[in-house]
Amino acid sequence: MTYLNEMLYQVTRPARYTGGEWNSSVKDWGKTHIRMVLAYPDLYEIGMSNLGLSILYELLNSQPDVLTERVFTPWLDMAAAMKKAAIPLFSLESKHPLKDFDIVGFSLGYEPTHTNVLDMLHLAQIPVLASERNDSHPIIIAGGSCALNPEPMADFIDFFVIGDGEEVLLELLGCFRDWKGQGRRDSKKQLLTQVATIPGIYVPSLYQVEYQADGSFKSITPTIAQAQPTIQRRIVSKLPPPVTKPIVPYIEVVHDRGAIEIQRGCSRGCRFCQAGMIYRPVRERSHEEVLQAVGELITNCGYDEISLLSLSTSDYSGIDQLVTSLSHRYPNLALSLPRLRLDRFSVKLVDSLPSRRKTGLTFAPEAGSHRLRQVINKTTTEDEILETAAAAFKRGWTGLKLYFMLGLPTETVDDVEGIAQLVTKVHSLGRKAEGRRPQLRVNLSTFVPKPHTPFQWVAQEGESQLNSKHELLRQGLHRKGIRLSWQDPKLSLLEAALSRGDRRLGKVIHRAWQLGSTFDAWSEHFNYGNWLRAFDESGLEPGFYAQRDRPLDELLPWAHIDVGVSTAFLKREYHRALEGKETPDCRCEACNICGLERWQPDCQQEYQELNQRR
Ligand code: SF4
Repeated sequence: MTYLNEMLYQVTRPARYTGGEWNSSVKDWGKTHIRMVLAYPDLYEIGMSNLGLSILYELLNSQPDVLTERVFTPWLDMAAAMKKAAIPLFSLESKHPLKDFDIVGFSLGYEPTHTNVLDMLHLAQIPVLASERNDSHPIIIAGGSCALNPEPMADFIDFFVIGDGEEVLLELLGCFRDWKGQGRRDSKKQLLTQVATIPGIYVPSLYQVEYQADGSFKSITPTIAQAQPTIQRRIVSKLPPPVTKPIVPYIEVVHDRGAIEIQRGCSRGCRFCQAGMIYRPVRERSHEEVLQAVGELITNCGYDEISLLSLSTSDYSGIDQLVTSLSHRYPNLALSLPRLRLDRFSVKLVDSLPSRRKTGLTFAPEAGSHRLRQVINKTTTEDEILETAAAAFKRGWTGLKLYFMLGLPTETVDDVEGIAQLVTKVHSLGRKAEGRRPQLRVNLSTFVPKPHTPFQWVAQEGESQLNSKHELLRQGLHRKGIRLSWQDPKLSLLEAALSRGDRRLGKVIHRAWQLGSTFDAWSEHFNYGNWLRAFDESGLEPGFYAQRDRPLDELLPWAHIDVGVSTAFLKREYHRALEGKETPDCRCEACNICGLERWQPDCQQEYQELNQRR
């Protein structure tokens, strides 16, 4: 410990590793039966802004016989110092090495952080490959949105939790409690066989994978009777109570404020959006519950700013009444409402917030033309966008952030030029409005085809086409008051390859990490050369995974993961996209998640027609 204290003087932001924050839970190591550590494969400042981590930390620590602690990826200076001093990666609360815990649970939310998982295991002196770990090592589990295509990480993880973790983790602990209670009489393999029977748990080592001669995915088959051919995503029907006593970091983190999840799921149905598909159905928290939770959060943490979290905050029923009630009850509280729809209502809503700072409003039109917005099912018209911008400028906002996506299916040069024209129109509206000059920040992301979306079969655009589009916009938007930024197409390619990958990508991830890749999500550390070499040495090509249109009848590597949205719905949405047809948000959806009996009549008819066509 003394050595650790000395080491902390030599690294940046030592509070990343000290623990001891307000509301952190330090249980008696010797008196708790099950010890688990929640591992986040990125920096402390990013992981501590993740609501899922807070939810699980509170839930697991509420179990009297379970101790749950945290660990984040150490920054490069700390990792080097730990390696030099042979200090194994430890938890923040008790400083126990990860290898002393029973379970290490990773949160996988972004594919370019996969190499950090390997690095954390290695720093913890735990073999990175599941096949090289024995009964003395902790069980390594993972959940989060990337677990919905678990195959690329299958070589490293003992089992995956698919979907909402709140119920399934408690069932899992029940299983583990029995196993440990028997003095681990049975081997880890027997434990894995047992957990494979829990709905929502996927144990990759119990499945055999085959490939076609052309390299495409052929089949995935359980090797024992206990393993289910299809893993159903776990869905909690009612949101569990909100976290009102979260840990308060001592250093500034990305979202440095309290947060209440007011709603889970989104039914808007934007066709590129994985979150919109994999977190269905929509589950709202009542106004009363939110009001009470905000009060508790202020009392327990002293926050003066709270975020009302949701994938689509404008769609929360009675959001304006909720904001009014909160403003009356807590007049000095600043509220933040992320992810608002692009309309006047949102501007009015944000403008009504107490203690508002008119620094910036964020909207995401995503595409530059109405045609392409119809393709992606985000059908805001240009008039609506301009009216919203005009309303924002009129109310005194000067800074607007606009998010667009490049490389969307069917995108043409006209659509890209449409972005420049739209942004220019917004800019002139800002100049006409009274007050200061408008400041527009235009962010261009790259379309990444994601599993379980209507665009899961679509190829990602190549680097040179994306570069020309960036250049077109750079020239078209070169003026004072407009700041343009975009994502490196090489990183987007990697993200797409890992998103739509199969189990063979385990070799690639392993090799890239051996070559020194970590913190790939950080542009200054992303080493594309390492990845190209890793693909090459594994006999694979990133373009095969990222830039290939997949036939609708090709078996996808994630086909055994059933997120609840039917493939028939995704195919229907894909065809509608190509026809430029909008699918309205009906909060019942034809995606099958709510059950056929709740479909609206026209959805049922369309589904039957689709089945006849197939
Ligand atoms: S509104 Fe669209 S982009 Fe936003 S979460 Fe919902 S489906 Fe996704």
